[in-house]
Formats: sequence, C-alpha cells, structure tokens
Amino acid sequence: MSALLEVSGVSVSFDGFKAINNLSFQIGPAELRAVIGPNGAGKTTFMDIVTGKTRPDEGSVLWGEKSQNLLKMSEARIAQAGVGRKFQRPTVFEDQSVFDNLLMALKNERGPLEVLFYKRSRADDARVEALAEEIGLADQLHRTSGELSHGQKQWLEIGMLLAQEPRLLLVDEPAAGMTLAEREHTTDLLREAAKTRAVVVVEHDMEFVRRLGCKVTVLHEGSVLAEGSIDHVTQDPQVIEVYLGR
Ligand code: ADP
Repeated sequence: MSALLEVSGVSVSFDGFKAINNLSFQIGPAELRAVIGPNGAGKTTFMDIVTGKTRPDEGSVLWGEKSQNLLKMSEARIAQAGVGRKFQRPTVFEDQSVFDNLLMALKNERGPLEVLFYKRSRADDARVEALAEEIGLADQLHRTSGELSHGQKQWLEIGMLLAQEPRLLLVDEPAAGMTLAEREHTTDLLREAAKTRAVVVVEHDMEFVRRLGCKVTVLHEGSVLAEGSIDHVTQDPQVIEVYLGR
C-alpha cells in the first residue's frame, strides 16, 4: 500500500531553534495514527507543515497517488486537495442547529457559487442525516448547537469536517475536557472515520491513545523518537526517559 502522505527529512527553525529536525512520517490512505510527545516536541509545527501554514527549511512533503508536492501548494489548495484540520477548541455556530451546521459545511465544500445559488435538496438532507448518524448526533439534529455538551460540540465539528470529505484528517487533542463516556464515543468515531480516510490524532492522554489501538508515533525535539504499537513505544527506554518517566 503506498502512502497518502509522505514527509521526508523535514526541518524547520524558528530564530535558529530547530523545532522540527529531520522528521520523516508516512501514513496510508485508510490509517489511524496517534502522534504523541511532550510539550514542545513539535506536534503542532508538524501539523502546520502538513496544512501549509509553516514552510520547512528543508525536506519534502508528498501527497496522493501522484506524489504531488504539498510544499508548492497554498494552504487553500492543500485544504481542497483533502487535508482537513480540527483544532482543539470547537468552532461550531452556536446559535444554529446541528442540522444547519452540518448543512453549512456541506455547502461550503462546493464553493462560493454553490453557496449563493443554493437550493436545498433531499440528497443533502440525507447526507446531513448520515453525517449526524456517523458522529452519534442523529437524535440531536434539531437542537441548537450552543446547548450541546463540550463532547457533542467536538463531534459536531468532526462531522463538519467530514462533510468536506477530507482524505486526511488532523485532529488536535480531541479528548481534552471530555467525560469518560465522551472519550469512548470519540475513540469509536475516530476509528470508524479512519476506515475510509487517513486520521492523525495528536493527543496527550495515554489512556485515550491506548483505546485508539493504532500505531503510535512519538515525537521528541522535532524528530521521531519511536514508532509502533502503544505497548512497543511505552516500553521503549528512550520514550520512558523523555516522556513517561517525567
Ligand atoms: P508541541 O505542539 O509538541 O507542544 P510545537 O510544535 O508547538 O510543539 O513547538 C515546538 C518547538 O518550537 C517549541 O520549542 C516551541 O517553543 C517552538 N516554536 C513553535 N512555534 C514557534 C514560533 N512561531 N516561533 C518560535 N518558536 C516556535
């Protein structure tokens, strides 16, 4: 299976400080991956590079079957090519219903003209309902989003990203601030989402990562320190020293 995203030998410095140091990373088209590492390890900068927000000083970032050079694409083009990113804080429209938030995301996916001349169709309604089902909010469709719990808002935002049909979804600390039940649901949701697309989850919570049950990449000082199953990486003496043993 060839990679969907292939990052090779990437480095980035901020004022002479190497935040990312010769980092290489690959993910397949239907793979779930957890990226962990202590504060300052380079996780956010890594995601910034993939989305085009930060440009590396060296290295390559290739995308898709045609190995397109992501470093030559604008942030907007990278998003159009199928890279979606979910930030830590949910940014749903609180005064709109769950249904309308999902519908809006669906319309946005089709570009400005479509938004302007939009005519709601039964197919769109069905797609919104399917998305709500996927994120576990089928029974909340007509609630105002502001009334949802923190966890439900996070799922809604994931649903809004899924509406845009990303091929790679980058998710930043999805479990932060969630109850245990919400975490469990989030695990299921992300595992399900990764059946048909690549999903990278940046997370601090080791128990959550364990439940994801996927390959783990440990970053430290801007490089990959270890990679493998959660059991493999948590038994790695270097990982224990820099991350778990602190
Ligand atoms: P993480 O997300 O793993 O906590 P970051 O990617 O945010 O790590 O940061 C990696 C390192 O790069 C840190 O030491 C951070 O202080 C530094 N850094 C990140 N962004 C900038 C920036 N814009 N300017 C200067 N230093 C930065």
